[in-house]
Parts: sequence; structure tokens; C-alpha cells
Amino acid sequence: MAVYILHFSEKYHHALHYIGFSEDPAARLDRHIARTEQPLIRAVVRAGIEIEIARVWPDAGRKFERKLKNQKNASRFCPICRSGNQAEA
Ligand SMILES: [Zn+2]
Repeated sequence: MAVYILHFSEKYHHALHYIGFSEDPAARLDRHIARTEQPLIRAVVRAGIEIEIARVWPDAGRKFERKLKNQKNASRFCPICRSGNQAEA
């Protein structure tokens, strides 16, 4: 199982990240994302916003996903934001 963080090329409403969870330990996330039923992801794709897989934690589970979500500061864990390519949180 894998936990991942997606970084959007633009904010969608107030969201710039999505933290998700995949049953697939290899986390073939491009396919996972393409097939996802997650409404936010689908809306972001439909809005023409690019999604980047910012980071993957390959052996993480639901507890870790929840922990990240509870931090409410995804940009802290996002290498794309941290590298300064996008200054906004
Ligand atoms: Zn980011």
C-alpha cells in the first residue's frame, strides 16, 4: 500500500494538493489517478489543471495518510512547494 501526495499546477478552489492512498504497493499512480473515482481529482482533471505526483510513501498505510491529512499543511510535505517552484501553500 502506498500513500501519495499530488500537487496541482493551479489551485482548484482552495486546494493545491491531494493526499491519497492506493492499494497498489507499486503505486502505479498515473493509472490509479486516471481511474480514480475521487471527485476532487476528477474535477481538477476536468478543469485542465495538471497533476504531478509530488511524493510517494511506498509502505505507508491509512494511519499515515490520516496523519498527513490532519496536519492541514500539505505543502510542508510537498517537494515541489518546498523547492520554491511554487511559493503558495
Ligand atoms: Zn506542492
